[in-house]
Amino acid sequence: MTDRGRRSWAEPWKIKMVEPLRMTTRSDREQAIRAAGYNTFLLRSEDVYIDLLTDSGTNAMSDRQWAAMMLGDEAYAGSANFYRLEEAARNAYGFRHLVPTHQGRGAEHLLSQICIRPGMLVPGNMYFTTTKHHQELAGGRFVDVIVDEAHDPASLHPFKGNVDLAKLERLIREAGADRVAYLSLETCVNMAGGQPCSLENIREACALCHAHGIRVFLDATRAVENAWFIREREPGYAHWSIARILREICRHADGATISAKKDCLVNIGGMLLLNDDDLAEEARNLCVVYEGLHTYGGLAGRDLEAMAVGINEMVQPEYIHARVGQVAYLADRLLEARVPIVRPVGGHGVFLVASEFLPHVRREALPAQALAAAIYIDSGVRAMERGAVSAGRDSTTGENLYPALELVRLTIPRRVYTQAHMDVVAESVIDLYENRDLITGLRFTYEPRRLRFFQARFEPEQGDTVLRWRAGEQAGDGPAPAMSTRRSDTDRVPVRHP
Ligand SMILES: *Cc1c(COP(=O)(O)O)cnc(C)c1O
Repeated sequence: MTDRGRRSWAEPWKIKMVEPLRMTTRSDREQAIRAAGYNTFLLRSEDVYIDLLTDSGTNAMSDRQWAAMMLGDEAYAGSANFYRLEEAARNAYGFRHLVPTHQGRGAEHLLSQICIRPGMLVPGNMYFTTTKHHQELAGGRFVDVIVDEAHDPASLHPFKGNVDLAKLERLIREAGADRVAYLSLETCVNMAGGQPCSLENIREACALCHAHGIRVFLDATRAVENAWFIREREPGYAHWSIARILREICRHADGATISAKKDCLVNIGGMLLLNDDDLAEEARNLCVVYEGLHTYGGLAGRDLEAMAVGINEMVQPEYIHARVGQVAYLADRLLEARVPIVRPVGGHGVFLVASEFLPHVRREALPAQALAAAIYIDSGVRAMERGAVSAGRDSTTGENLYPALELVRLTIPRRVYTQAHMDVVAESVIDLYENRDLITGLRFTYEPRRLRFFQARFEPEQGDTVLRWRAGEQAGDGPAPAMSTRRSDTDRVPVRHP
């Protein structure tokens, strides 16, 4: 690729079917976000123009995947689709046993129930919301052992997802190996901004755990995107295929939980992958209780088939290049305008550093939540808070947690949006950054007990909006265009190699 460094990448597909989007005015959006309690999770999708809430289950499937849906074998037991998925998953990830689940958290639930006893510790390279919640429901306590650089949005460390081996070793020594349930090792760490782990670190973390008789389970939800970064950044792998790096990532671990709604290019599905026969037997048994029979795991046969095809497509080099390239394109446009974002840029989205973006909004006034609401009001782009609201409260003291990272995630669905959409997003964010003093804070009006970010409601601290009107503009004015027309086509920044 470097020999063609001056050439653009482009998507290795063309569009066959389109889904029209509804354009709205600023007044429509003010009303919609107020009705949603200033929580972008509570907006109706019809009121959203460009939906960057998540890359989870928002993938566009290929024509082959849609064709595969017609091959659904909807038998209750032993569906042909299960066996095809089992083969695809075994080829791609290399683990012996597949237990399908309705989505990633189903797999996390089974794994946590099987492997965690009350009072045990579960070290991991930064928490993920559902993962940690299931670990706690099983009586475990999550302990963060990610490298310090992960908490520093300005650090340019190439593998900010790495496990800090010294922290892990200290934890094992102090707690005793038999109190450690397993190492929960996430690839392309979501909450750190989609930051990868190096293969060297994965190998060493696994070796350290295995030397103490401790198992390692990957959260391999974004392992393909991680494989891309290993090829790009870690010496010695530039000529390896993505498929080979993916297998190498998994080779050292004892199993994996996977949300197939991300890398695997489907809209629903999850997997628990295991090597140990006895653990797999236990997992299949619990699967029957919570998910469905172990050959369908809460999914239709057609879903299993689409997943099998998606697993084959996800490791194609042109696909993953375009995927990560689109994220890098959006990031470059923001960096050019000096918008504070997490760097290096991760694999699945661009993370705005809300605490720097809105220095005048106190942490207690939830700057990331307010910024996500303001972006929606400005352009109909839906983003997600990843800061204090997501972090929730300490499970023992009940105090609010204020993590080092107070972020807004602009998550890019796979194969869904065009570069012009990315331009609209960049222009809105840049414009808000230049007018950031118009954005004010929020306070809770309703706080759910579990995973509060999904359903919490808020109100502006001052007045009746989080984004004040600029001088010259007025509430109630006629329709404002959903997208900016400030830039002409000719001064668009050209596509760049990621
Ligand atoms: C999405 C996600 C999960 C949970 O998967 P669901 O399919 O949403 O249940 C777990 N871990 C990571 C890193 C994720 O991004």
